[in-house]
Amino acid sequence: MSDFLFPKGAPQRGIFCNRTLNLRSLGAIGYDMDYTLVQYHVREWETTAFNHARDRMLREGWPVEKLEFTPHLMIQGLIVDLETGNLLKVNRFGFVKTAFHGTGSMNYEDQRRLYSRIVVDHREDRFIFLSTLFSLSEACLFAELVELFDTDQLPMVADYEELYWRVRRAIDGAHAEGLLKAEILADLDRAVDRDPQTAEALLDQKQSGKKLMLITNSDWPYTRLLMAHAIDPFLPEGTTWRDLFDLVIVSSRKPDFFTSRSPALEVVNDEGMLKPVEGKLEKGKVYFGGNAALVEKTLGLEGDRILYVGDHFFGDVHATKSTMRWRTALVVRELESDLKAAYAFGEQEQLLEELMEQKNVLERRIAQMRLRLQRGQDKDELKPRLEELRTEFAALDEKIAPLARASARTGNANWGSLMRAGNDKSYLADYVERHADIYTSRVSNFLFETPFAYFRSARGSLPHDKSAPDLD
Ligand code: IMP
Ligand code: MG
Repeated sequence: MSDFLFPKGAPQRGIFCNRTLNLRSLGAIGYDMDYTLVQYHVREWETTAFNHARDRMLREGWPVEKLEFTPHLMIQGLIVDLETGNLLKVNRFGFVKTAFHGTGSMNYEDQRRLYSRIVVDHREDRFIFLSTLFSLSEACLFAELVELFDTDQLPMVADYEELYWRVRRAIDGAHAEGLLKAEILADLDRAVDRDPQTAEALLDQKQSGKKLMLITNSDWPYTRLLMAHAIDPFLPEGTTWRDLFDLVIVSSRKPDFFTSRSPALEVVNDEGMLKPVEGKLEKGKVYFGGNAALVEKTLGLEGDRILYVGDHFFGDVHATKSTMRWRTALVVRELESDLKAAYAFGEQEQLLEELMEQKNVLERRIAQMRLRLQRGQDKDELKPRLEELRTEFAALDEKIAPLARASARTGNANWGSLMRAGNDKSYLADYVERHADIYTSRVSNFLFETPFAYFRSARGSLPHDKSAPDLD
């Protein structure tokens, strides 16, 4: 048997741990569907969503017929500034590291002028955190419309804020009406990125005695076709995905699902007809709505014995953890390409680190020399020496600059890595750390860790860790 940690040579498929989690102690695992159990080809899905939203705007008389979805223009985890119409990449302290106005990056001076005194916090009305892969089409459409607005082609809106909400409404409408989903369903092979190992991982978990649940915001007619397409071909003959799940909840209205006391209705046929439910939920049935407390009552399990796995930062892990105290796993699909790019850049990153260390040493020597000169010490000897060091410093900077630029672009040429902003953690990484106990790129990564895994958090690093004490 092959070594089982993760597919050989694919460390990007690991499961990464923020807070220690013992899978053995779990009684139940709940799964989100879209972009979690069912992965989409991002370019296909987001192009389709973009086109449907654009066409809604076109029908309302917007001059948008030429707009197209541009893959890789945006990444997950950006923040919209409603006041300026900019899209921002922010670090964990709320400082803006990269800003786009429209589809192009802002120059450094403009960015500094606008943001040097601002700490971004998505809980303020001015900012919107675009946290899921479904946000890529939204961010792209908004950026392209900002350019039309700036050239006075959108007299129907007064400002960037109104523009954003019109885009939001168009995207929301596209998801809610049947046409977008109908187009996806018409060619599932095109839209769905099937992973045979997902079914295997779920089977292992089920056979190890855990109760499995599907809790999705999608409706029943869509869910049933998507799950059958993504899971059934990879299960033992005669079984379907329905046999894996003890509880199926559709149209769940997460995140409200975790905080509300909404009643559940039973789904009684393939078209999604509903009837009321009294008391507990029953194994094998499909429900519409409901709430997390009802799930706990049905399973007879408390929050810390339930793990919920999802891709949505608010819908799947935030309220889940903060209100119900369920354990949480976040699926961040683009982590895979992000980590691969970081590994490929590894040697250069190390060189960059070494050069930065040399720069730090040189900078301290220059500072100390300047102080001695300021105090009037050893002028004749120090002045020429200082000039030499300054030349050395400039040469070092010239070596560093291209490496630092390349480092800032690993992962995505416009925005860099998902989880880093400059040298620090990104806003997104900070959010993941706070709300997700573990995170990984896809559900099938559980296969390699087994249902018996014990994930331990690493000892966190602190700025003083590197300074070796001089004990003598
Ligand atoms: P889940 O990830 O399985 O909970 O379900 C996501 C569902 O929410 C999918 O059916 C999406 O089409 C839908 N969805 C995603 N974004 C939006 C939106 O902005 N408005 C309405 N529905 C959305
Ligand atoms: Mg989802």
